[in-house]
Amino acid sequence: MVSGVHIQYYFVCHRKLWLYSKNIQLEEGHERVQTGKILHEPAYKNSDKKELTVDNIKIDAVDGEYVREVKVTSKMTKADRWQLLFYLYELKKRGLNKKGLISYTKEKRTEEVKLTEEDEKELERIIEDIYQIMEQPHPPGVINSPICTKCAYYDFCYAEEGEE
Ligand code: SF4
Repeated sequence: MVSGVHIQYYFVCHRKLWLYSKNIQLEEGHERVQTGKILHEPAYKNSDKKELTVDNIKIDAVDGEYVREVKVTSKMTKADRWQLLFYLYELKKRGLNKKGLISYTKEKRTEEVKLTEEDEKELERIIEDIYQIMEQPHPPGVINSPICTKCAYYDFCYAEEGEE
């Protein structure tokens, strides 16, 4: 089942998505993820807003008509936006019509996200594409992007390349 993490990785790197789908999960303990968790906590520390988990959806907080997500920086804005749109889409399928808010902790900025019919169609295409990538027998190639140095799979990807 496609989750918010799959949607994120789809926009970050298809190889990362494939590796994650094979349960090769190196994110635990990774510096950026830990920083994210640390920055995450104060955002709702004195709040009665609750994390929401429904099947494949894990949302940071539900706040009236909004669902909220907290991110460290806006470096992955497109991935963050589509992840939240995916949550709104999944909630809508369950009869809950919500809007979204993404808060970027470092920049102290919040963006509103609304799900449109075009977004829903695009999400259906994205989800189909994700299944196709996950079903590939071999991982997609490395992307040689600056983001690779910050990725938990860096050693895995580039050590493998070096051996070829
Ligand atoms: S290191 Fe780069 S190529 Fe490898 S999974 Fe991460 S982002 Fe993708």
